[in-house]
Amino acid sequence: MPGNDAELRELVRKIALVNAIKHDGKSQPGPVIGTILGEKPEFRTKVKEITALINDVVREVNGLPLEKQRSIVEANWPDALAKGKVEEEKHLPPLPEASKYKQIVTRYAPNPDCVLHLGSARAIVLCHDYARLYKGKFIVRFEDTDPRVKIPVLEFYDRIREDLGWLGCKPDEEYIQSDRIPIYYEHAQKLLEKGFAYVCTSPPETFREKTLASEPCECRNLPVEEQMARWERMLEGGYREGEAVVRVKTDLNHPNPAVRDWPALRTIDPIKWPHPRVGSKYRVWPLYNLACGVDDHMMGITHIIRGKEHLTNQVRQEFMYKYFGWKYPQAIHYGRLKITGAYLSKSKIVQGVREGTFKDWDDPRLATFAALRRRGITPEAIKKMIIDVGPKTSDVTLSWENLNAYNRKILDPDASRYFFVQSPIELTVTQLPKAFTARLHKHPEHPERGSREYEVAPDGGGSAKLWISKKDVDPSKTGTMLRLMELFNIKVGKVNAYSADATFVSESYEEARKSKAHLIHWIPVGRDMPCSVVMQDATILEGVAENACKQLKPNDVIQFERFGFVRIDQTGKTLVAYYAHK
Ligand SMILES: [Zn+2]
Repeated sequence: MPGNDAELRELVRKIALVNAIKHDGKSQPGPVIGTILGEKPEFRTKVKEITALINDVVREVNGLPLEKQRSIVEANWPDALAKGKVEEEKHLPPLPEASKYKQIVTRYAPNPDCVLHLGSARAIVLCHDYARLYKGKFIVRFEDTDPRVKIPVLEFYDRIREDLGWLGCKPDEEYIQSDRIPIYYEHAQKLLEKGFAYVCTSPPETFREKTLASEPCECRNLPVEEQMARWERMLEGGYREGEAVVRVKTDLNHPNPAVRDWPALRTIDPIKWPHPRVGSKYRVWPLYNLACGVDDHMMGITHIIRGKEHLTNQVRQEFMYKYFGWKYPQAIHYGRLKITGAYLSKSKIVQGVREGTFKDWDDPRLATFAALRRRGITPEAIKKMIIDVGPKTSDVTLSWENLNAYNRKILDPDASRYFFVQSPIELTVTQLPKAFTARLHKHPEHPERGSREYEVAPDGGGSAKLWISKKDVDPSKTGTMLRLMELFNIKVGKVNAYSADATFVSESYEEARKSKAHLIHWIPVGRDMPCSVVMQDATILEGVAENACKQLKPNDVIQFERFGFVRIDQTGKTLVAYYAHK
């Protein structure tokens, strides 16, 4: 075991004690292991060895009364219970049997029939991050062997690559299944030669009836020579689409009928359904379980991490693995991740974009990575949310608000603040005693990041004009006191559709606070630029932004005060921003 044993035991003891104190005196081995592996990644391949030690220490710690646990920690590690460190960094639990493999290899296997969306994030982030944690290999495999129903589209291969790069999950290796058809043929042939598979030409209904009755169809027991002749005929185009299927023999009495003699390859009309990459070259196409099962083995995948809807596929593929004498990889099947209110149906996304219901793949109403990117949702927020959910098998339902909260935490310390006035009306402030200069910091907690100044000076008649938002003044309440942020206090007079009057009251912030005046933002007329904000529902809010926004560049993410975080999309005469969230 690496490191010094006594030192390791002491570290485990500290973590177990802190964990116990946070949980009414009872420490749990799971979180302790998680924290240890977070702090000492070198132990990731030694989980079995350290688990015994951890169990031992946890037992010892849990035998102590809470008071005693606390006094030990306070005496030895006074900082460990510091208030500021309440939020525990979540770590992925260790992979099963990781120490059995020289190198951990994971894969993400998208079908390029759509762009990636939030629903894909769990598989991508878990596969990628586990590979990185164990200094292993992360493979991306395009599963594009269905040119008839889940038709691959050329542009999506690149869009998926772009999305993976944006998410920070670039693969170490990439494969495309439509480049590997001869490999699948070779394996199909081996299965047929050894009698582990057969070419079924029965009408689908006949096959279904027989299988449900646990009976073989008439093709199953034909001699190998006949199977090979049928296979040759399939490859040569002697069968029309749907007339012949290679089936892998399983157990006709298997309790799940869907497992019985599953289809491995089928014929597709190559003229009617050309493949976008290889055209009409192939008429026999592998189905999911054959292609995926062969590839997982050949690519040395050690850990398959995927949704639990794939559990039956594992059962199916295990028959084939047994025939080839292969060992099935470790499989982790996580539960469903639902995002309330998010559009996650691939076919609906594709249809909506093709028909023009959505403007493009990055329409703000979609939960595609392209849309999230455009709105200023950061890949870090997505990753953090997925890591926090982890690979657990129970179903999880999240909302946009959950993702927004992660994103806000990341943006808030960095985003500069600006004024945006939505649905502006022109406010004339009269009786100004002098010129006022407001100095607005880009970030209230970081004055060193700079500021901008706006002078509001009286004209010959003692008044000045400002843009304020229509929703900040109530026409029915004349005489209300408002404070123009960082400027002065006013009393609102008459409010019309596009203009309003007010009188200057005082400069003191104290006075505004005492009279509980609302703080509103403003922009001097003439120091503004037109600005459109595209909201998540694709509606557009028109308004003006302060002209300091002229320095902004596309992709900057900023906060419009009292409005929300936005990503700058276009600059120039008019500023176009996409709304992220409050
Ligand atoms: Zn048959």
